[in-house]
Amino acid sequence: MTTHALFREDAYLRECDAVVTRVDDDGVELDRTIFYPQGGGQAGDTGVLTTTDGLRLRVIDARKSKRDGTTPDDAVHLMDPSGQWRSQLMVGTPVRAQIDWDRRYRHMRFHTATHLLCAVVKELVDGCSITAEYARLDFAMTDLLDKQQVQDGLDALIAASHRVESEWISDDEMQANPQLVKSMSVSPPVGFGRVRLLRVSDIDLQACGGTHVRNTAEIGAVRVAKIEKKSARTRRVVLEFV
Ligand SMILES: [Zn+2]
Repeated sequence: MTTHALFREDAYLRECDAVVTRVDDDGVELDRTIFYPQGGGQAGDTGVLTTTDGLRLRVIDARKSKRDGTTPDDAVHLMDPSGQWRSQLMVGTPVRAQIDWDRRYRHMRFHTATHLLCAVVKELVDGCSITAEYARLDFAMTDLLDKQQVQDGLDALIAASHRVESEWISDDEMQANPQLVKSMSVSPPVGFGRVRLLRVSDIDLQACGGTHVRNTAEIGAVRVAKIEKKSARTRRVVLEFV
């Protein structure tokens, strides 16, 4: 049974009711979820599953399910091994799922900022990491990047309050438009009928399944903390919140 990934339609959902559909060695799958499973460089969500008895069971991470026949939306909620989850969660158990919102919101703000960075630098991405503390993008390029120019470009796009929206295209449309893939390290999931795109106004359009804010102004103040030569062919840009 495929998990209904509610966060792909509405990244602002902080909680939902769900039912356990599978119990694995280290966690559970749910029929629907607001937990983003680690992917595309973005860290997985943490949070709590609460039983109808009011027992709060800690989720320490969310990962894509690796079993056969799964879709990109199937996620394992990794449970705190020291908790009582094994005796509480069985197939069919109803739970209230809640994510650690402050942490996720930082992921959303950083993730949207990385799309703006793609619009400023305009090179292919060869590595990405989005956490609550920092975001980094590795660009496949040999030219030097000017830190102040990147900062100014980013500041202007954040301040311009551009709308951020997702849209869906078919697998065929995806394959006919390879320029929509801006990452060399992460491929969009084709073979499931449709692929999600993330559009930042007329600034950036690319395949992405992550969680983002609705408007670039929501990102707030971000500073280019570091630009470094990661390898002969890669330049790394690290962003932090001010
Ligand atoms: Zn994205």
